[in-house]
Amino acid sequence: MSNQRQRALNIVQQRTTDRVFAPADKISDFYAEHVFNMDKMRATLAPETFKKVESAIKKGKKIDLEAASEVASAVKTWALSKGTTHYTHWFQPLTGATAEKHDSFFDAHKGIEVFKASALIQQEPDASSFPNGGIRSTFEARGYTAWDPSSPIFIWGRTLCIPTVFVSYTGEALDYKAPLLKAVEAVDKAATKVCQLFDRNVNRVSASLGCEQEYFVVDRALYNARPDLVMAGRTVFGHHPARGQQLDDHYFGAIPSRVYNYMKDFEIECLKLGIPVSTRHNEVAPSQFEVAPIFEDINVATDHNSLMMDVMARVAERHDLAVLFHEKPFAGLNGSGKHNNWSLITSTGVNVFQPSTSARENLQFLTFLVNTIKAIHSNAGLLRASIASAGNDHRLGANEAPPAIMSVFLGSDLTAVLDELENNGNIKVDKGDNMYMKLGIDKIPHIILDNTDRNRTSPFAFTGNKFEFRAVGSDQNVAEPMTVLNLIMAKQLKEFYGVVNERIDKGEDKKIAIVNVLREYIKESKAVRFEGDGYSSDWAKEAEKRGLPNVKDTARALDAYVSDQSKAIFEEFGVMSAIELEARNEIQHENYIMKLQIEARLISEIARTQVIPAALKYQNKLITNAKGLKEFGLDTSHVTAILERVNGLINTIQTKVQDMNDERGKVNDIEGTRERAIAYCDNLKAAYFDDIRAAVDKLEVIIDDEDWPLLKYREMLFLR
Ligand code: ADP
Ligand code: MG
Repeated sequence: MSNQRQRALNIVQQRTTDRVFAPADKISDFYAEHVFNMDKMRATLAPETFKKVESAIKKGKKIDLEAASEVASAVKTWALSKGTTHYTHWFQPLTGATAEKHDSFFDAHKGIEVFKASALIQQEPDASSFPNGGIRSTFEARGYTAWDPSSPIFIWGRTLCIPTVFVSYTGEALDYKAPLLKAVEAVDKAATKVCQLFDRNVNRVSASLGCEQEYFVVDRALYNARPDLVMAGRTVFGHHPARGQQLDDHYFGAIPSRVYNYMKDFEIECLKLGIPVSTRHNEVAPSQFEVAPIFEDINVATDHNSLMMDVMARVAERHDLAVLFHEKPFAGLNGSGKHNNWSLITSTGVNVFQPSTSARENLQFLTFLVNTIKAIHSNAGLLRASIASAGNDHRLGANEAPPAIMSVFLGSDLTAVLDELENNGNIKVDKGDNMYMKLGIDKIPHIILDNTDRNRTSPFAFTGNKFEFRAVGSDQNVAEPMTVLNLIMAKQLKEFYGVVNERIDKGEDKKIAIVNVLREYIKESKAVRFEGDGYSSDWAKEAEKRGLPNVKDTARALDAYVSDQSKAIFEEFGVMSAIELEARNEIQHENYIMKLQIEARLISEIARTQVIPAALKYQNKLITNAKGLKEFGLDTSHVTAILERVNGLINTIQTKVQDMNDERGKVNDIEGTRERAIAYCDNLKAAYFDDIRAAVDKLEVIIDDEDWPLLKYREMLFLR
């Protein structure tokens, strides 16, 4: 074979592994050395200024121009001492990638390096080239990025990066971060009030997030030889390898040395950037891995996840590897997710999801647990929408982890506790009673601490002292699901606080009022609790009976963002206006269409220019062979059988590709974005993608290996 495939395979044979060494034995010697963090600020700013910055970070106070000038000057000195030449506002526009526009510190007029407060505080990227869902044409032509002091400034490469939010001049959010910050503020406010029912000393509640990032790693030469991986992030063709993940030997197995050195390298870069990466291991599928930092404040954790993905992609180049964040790069093997471990922690240091030995704290624990379940139940559609993407559609509802039905897993012990509370609905608790004992909620800590019962099929699971939102896609910006989760939690807690207070005003004892409301909630939200196998078809039927939404595709799932209920919640907490939601919805539908359009084009092009020619070539070999056999008077039936088979498959591919392209022409003419997205989903993806693939994949296992033009799964996944 002399094709691109063979050339790539030859390159891979020559690869060697470079061992990676950490800059110091102890991580603490280089941790966060590229971050202008609190310690560096304390050391370089006047005490007054430092206090201002600190209260901006902790309490969201505005920083005045004078203080900003001092920060800018200290940052510049630090950055120049580390050899940086440029600075950029670093932000997360709705494209899904991070964005930056580098400006030099050097001012040619003055002949010196300058960095003014104004440059720290605000920058104007050319906003018109970022998706805005029509906001900018309706409102104001320009947008700007604004410094977010709550996420630390860092150096990446030779560039100083200033984390920012991206907003239009009329105030609409144009990025993922601005709504997240508002949602986090909303949950802080609502949760603090609820916590004060239990402890007056609580004055703040912060949301925490720890992301488990899954990814695939492929040799760069192999990656470059697969146009579908390069353009769409996933393989649109490829027969299952004889050996996939059925031996279960990859999970937690020894990490291949090339990948190990790559991991070590990007981890070092992450650590220098103050990203607290702590665990690494193989995942279920061959060539699939996971990295997880220790949880942090949600805002910082979100920035860190985006930054880590950038770092991983860039460091992969150094190792001649490509990292794949797509949710389903390889059909038939496990896809990649990003488990979002989430909890709420009070200013007094209590994790509200941590069962405790103190009865008072346990009632608080139950309060937050039940309110979370209720929030998910009331907003299942919106939560589903928050993780909708073309890539994630290959996981959710596609017989793989986890289903598109939003349900909550608690484990049998906690389920028993809630059942008991519910069934004790008639037990009257009087003043002076030991309410905890009477209701059977005094024993929680004993049961949960050794609760190892873990259900991997649940999209939203309680795992001991946190909830784990597992349905999030590996390629997603986590700000989106975290905005929704914290927002619906804020809504739920606010409602709870109101109802409890009404009861108290009517003379009910506080604790009894709380328990009574919780009992009602437990009943009302019971349908969303599910402990069984989330992948089974029985669950889909059962969920339907329970009235739980099960929307399998992004085109339709996104509707939940613009429902009246959703708009009301977003507006109530000032997180986004109805106009912003409509605009975002438009962007997401557009994005979905674009992704499917690229895939449809790739399918057509690769099928016509690579697969069919290879099949024709093989056919010619068969024809020559059959003619020869005939000359010798030998039986040709086995050869003509293959010939017929190949001919049939070529025919199928040729016809279906043509039909698909014709259909795409029609679909592209559909006026409404939502309607067009649905047509892309139903009339193109569902109608053609799998069928064409099936025919191509069959050819792959018939045609002479020498002639097959595309790298095979076994070559991409098992070569090290
Ligand atoms: P696994 O679910 O694979 O067993 P771990 O329990 O080790 O993983 O935790 C996974 C992630 O959850 C890590 O990022 C960890 O820091 C994070 N995590 C642990 N406790 C909390 C918490 N209270 N709040 C948020 N994240 C947490
Ligand atoms: Mg986990």
